[in-house]
Amino acid sequence: MQTRRLPAHERAAIGCWATGRDRSWFAARTPEEQDQALSAGERALVALLTARREAGLPLAYLLGFREFFGQRFFVNPSVLIPRAETEQLLEAALQVVSEVVSEVSSAVASDPAAESRPALQVLDLGTGSGCLAIGLDVAARAKGWPLALTAVDQSFAALQTARNNALWHGAHIQFLQGSWFEALGQSESRFDLVLSNPPYIAAQDPHLSQGDLPYEPASALVGSQPNADGLDDLRVIVGQAPRWLRPGGWLLVEHSHDQQPQVISLMQAAGFAKVVGQADLSGTPRLVKGQL
Ligand code: GLN
Repeated sequence: MQTRRLPAHERAAIGCWATGRDRSWFAARTPEEQDQALSAGERALVALLTARREAGLPLAYLLGFREFFGQRFFVNPSVLIPRAETEQLLEAALQVVSEVVSEVSSAVASDPAAESRPALQVLDLGTGSGCLAIGLDVAARAKGWPLALTAVDQSFAALQTARNNALWHGAHIQFLQGSWFEALGQSESRFDLVLSNPPYIAAQDPHLSQGDLPYEPASALVGSQPNADGLDDLRVIVGQAPRWLRPGGWLLVEHSHDQQPQVISLMQAAGFAKVVGQADLSGTPRLVKGQL
């Protein structure tokens, strides 16, 4: 087998997926012992996946899933592969939700006329695999936080993938197709939180030809209209968000490593207060949040 060029964890992931065996089975055997124990069909599948991976196809697309925030999400070339750095956006969203839930709870507790806590309205723009909306739903259910989630994507194929993921995780999410807030049409909805990991890579960024990126949907990386600074979609989202947020509602967006000052300015110009940037776990500036 031509497996030596792949890192050990990728070989293990392919072996486990193709044969249904677990990591300890592979760890306890030499490559020769593994080869001997596998059936001809298993060996062929391992060889095929290995060759495709060595040719550059993303591991997540070959296996059909990626772990994100401790959960498994189905992926395919119609959706961006969930990134570790985007877990920071989910953490930040959970922090906002937790604060809003405790504010609402104490308001309800001090008002005898109030009957119950209303569900917080949350909107995920450009949901892709659905990892953010579903990750929020899973975490909110575990905490007993009442959330009503809406997730938007322009791509029908992406929405199908997100729907499958929502079914798999038992998440109740309203999915809408369309470009950013346009998907909401004439809706009267107002949101407590809007979050988005939009396309933000500049049209000429050399990273676009590296790693997994050439295989991912360009619409999720550079947007449907590639642009020089990568900020066009963030301009639309930040500019239109105030019309869709309740007073006091929050906007949270992910951005590229060098875009934080511009995104902070965009949010301030759109009327947001408490605008702060945060870094991801590698220390790279990665998201901005602001309150209306
Ligand atoms: N963070 C991703 C990358 O740099 C891009 C995702 C995006 O554009 N939203 O590969």
